[in-house]
Amino acid sequence: MENASKRVEDQLDKELVVYIDGNHYPKSQAKVSVYDHGLLYGDGVFEGIRAYNGVVFKLKEHVDRLYRSAHAIMLNIPLSKEEMIQALLETLRKNKLKDSYIRLLVTRGIGDLGLDPRKCPKPSVIIITDAISLHADGAEENGITTMLSWVRRNPVDSTTHEIKSLNYLNSILAKIEANTNGYDEALCLESNGYVAEGVGENLFIVKNGELITPPPSTGALAGITAEVVVNLAVKLGYKLTVTNLTPFMLFTADEAFFTGTAMEMMPIREVNKRRIGSGKPGPVTKKLLVEFRKIIQDPANGVKI
Ligand code: PMP
Repeated sequence: MENASKRVEDQLDKELVVYIDGNHYPKSQAKVSVYDHGLLYGDGVFEGIRAYNGVVFKLKEHVDRLYRSAHAIMLNIPLSKEEMIQALLETLRKNKLKDSYIRLLVTRGIGDLGLDPRKCPKPSVIIITDAISLHADGAEENGITTMLSWVRRNPVDSTTHEIKSLNYLNSILAKIEANTNGYDEALCLESNGYVAEGVGENLFIVKNGELITPPPSTGALAGITAEVVVNLAVKLGYKLTVTNLTPFMLFTADEAFFTGTAMEMMPIREVNKRRIGSGKPGPVTKKLLVEFRKIIQDPANGVKI
């Protein structure tokens, strides 16, 4: 897979800088302590955000979600939301990036080798502004292949993905399974066997011209891209139902697609070797995609760098 990050640095002809706790470091020197509980225990929260043409898409919504995730794990972020936004914008400006994938992280910070978070006096804030590339060019036109994985989405009483925490092993195991079996992406079932979401994407199907997406009770993240697509679908007059989705409903859907900040909107053409609809992106997906492209480019939907 191409190295999107290297391409950005080649274009800029310089090394990107990364924000860590108030300072900017060249990427090659941007490091955290091996005693940081983000590394030792996955104890922290994060966001993935995109900037399009000099505007950070849905920045306030992402920052709000970061603080909600932090609240859920009792992590006190040492910056106000406004300070966080300013730090992020400043990092983008330093890197002269107008189009970017941004990773915002807050870890529990440096502690000792016990897992007690009280030993970590100061959470760490990290802001990476770079690029991301999940699939080869043309994936959006053709759709991607997926498989239902043996890895169940974490239950809502555990490391639920409703919290955007640094615990992503569940998603990584599903992704490894997809990789080793030659599929582009994996889908995760929740504990009862309903389809929850992708490894880092929400899922929609289209049946008889109507949209269906699983509820947050499956342990899926409340996606910001999904919310954009829901609002768009309603505006365009499509009926939208939030309900449990069985594998059968997915296999027999007319169309299916993923939504996510990194993946944007991505048509699914196959699930466990069952062709979805015609095997090509369907008319509803295509229509939504055209409108989605306009929304992400609209400066009214974000914060200017
Ligand atoms: N589910 C999971 C588990 C994710 O990590 C993501 C990516 N943040 C999503 C869904 C999609 O959410 P969003 O549209 O807010 O990026």
